[in-house]
Amino acid sequence: MAKKIQAIRGMNDTLPDQTPVWQKLESLLRQVVSSYGYSEIRMPLVESTDLFKRSIGEVTDIVEKEMYTFDDNGNSLTLRPEGTASCVRAGNEHGLLYNQERRLWYTGPMFRHERPQKGRYRQFHQFGVETFGMASADIDAEIILLSARLWKKLGIDKHVELQINSLGSNAARAHYKEVLVAFLEKHEAQLDDDSKRRMKTNPMRVLDSKNPQVQALLVDAPKLSEYLDDESIEHFKQLQKYLDAAGIKYVLNERLVRGLDYYNRTVFEWVTSSLGAQGTICAGGRYDGLVEQLGGKATPAVGFAMGLERIVLMLNELELNNDVPSDVDIYSVLVGDKTDLAGFKMAELIRTELPHLKIMHHCGAGNFKKQMKRADKSGARLALIIAEDELQDNCVTIKDLSGKTDQKTIEMDSLLTVLPTYF
Ligand code: ATP
Ligand code: MG
Repeated sequence: MAKKIQAIRGMNDTLPDQTPVWQKLESLLRQVVSSYGYSEIRMPLVESTDLFKRSIGEVTDIVEKEMYTFDDNGNSLTLRPEGTASCVRAGNEHGLLYNQERRLWYTGPMFRHERPQKGRYRQFHQFGVETFGMASADIDAEIILLSARLWKKLGIDKHVELQINSLGSNAARAHYKEVLVAFLEKHEAQLDDDSKRRMKTNPMRVLDSKNPQVQALLVDAPKLSEYLDDESIEHFKQLQKYLDAAGIKYVLNERLVRGLDYYNRTVFEWVTSSLGAQGTICAGGRYDGLVEQLGGKATPAVGFAMGLERIVLMLNELELNNDVPSDVDIYSVLVGDKTDLAGFKMAELIRTELPHLKIMHHCGAGNFKKQMKRADKSGARLALIIAEDELQDNCVTIKDLSGKTDQKTIEMDSLLTVLPTYF
């Protein structure tokens, strides 16, 4: 036998038993964002490597070690590890951003060369929103409310916690970095190698350390909140006012700094304890400097991205995945000579006249018992049976596979009025 070729590690197939959960999630997402007036944008999967280096930052996990980068005739290209940079690039390129207000959303695969584990893959899917041209905290609150609405619709709202923080202005953060580095240098002996390296390259990331010893040391570290500029403090207060008014609970997490360079002021994460270590299902914040940094005119912006695999995992673990509709409503069973032609005709008629019903036409003939087994397996509510008697009398037999109603034989001509009474 020929050797089988397998999928690439960390890049998953989504099989038919899982696609209904994905579709449910995707359709709810579309519904929620359109109820807030957001428009979809679609960007390529591949961009210039420089785009990610310049936006995400040279000294971040993504750019240092997670990008799939390759040479294309002398150009360095990268499979997109996230959507924000591409969205800003597209917005600048097509003049969507300057002096305008934009509310955009996107979804699709992202690629990061990480160690695959539960909730962490090399190809994964994000759904994100990016808003441009609005500097006040009401838009920060809006995108948080939008995400909260989705959790509610999915039924996972009791299992997620909102954490928020403010990173302040660039100047405030630069000042804080100096104070933090001075503190870390004093305690360098207690830092692990990773934190020592980060102290030199991207010191705020030390606050992110998962090492308990480093975390213990940080209890006494200077706090970013004490170095925030007045405008950022006011902005953060406003955000909390809006969240309070909307009844959204949140936790202030001073250590929340996010891994990417482009954030300022508001940052937030939705976190769950039901997924183990990979607990962040949605993360975002304000990035007022990025549009200009990527060659556009200064434009305030705020957005988030959610990891869809992690949300699907949650839905599966909380058993919220079973109210998805079946792929099939009706299965046709055709026994005897020429009934296949009548069956085709009936199925096509139903598809034309009752397009919301999903009908699977039996192919390959076979005896009645075998066909009924297929009908059961299809998950259909009804089997429509045409045997020789029905063919002769121009009738069809309706068998309710849920057992809720009795079997009956009706005139073919009344089928289109009878069928909707079952659904
Ligand atoms: P983490 O701390 O888990 O590595 P991150 O800060 O790198 O997350 P972001 O860049 O903020 O993640 O991406 C937004 C969201 O996308 C994350 O909160 C998570 O839900 C999801 N995500 C990120 N990386 C992966 C991955 N490798 N596999 C699956 N989902 C991911
Ligand atoms: Mg990461």
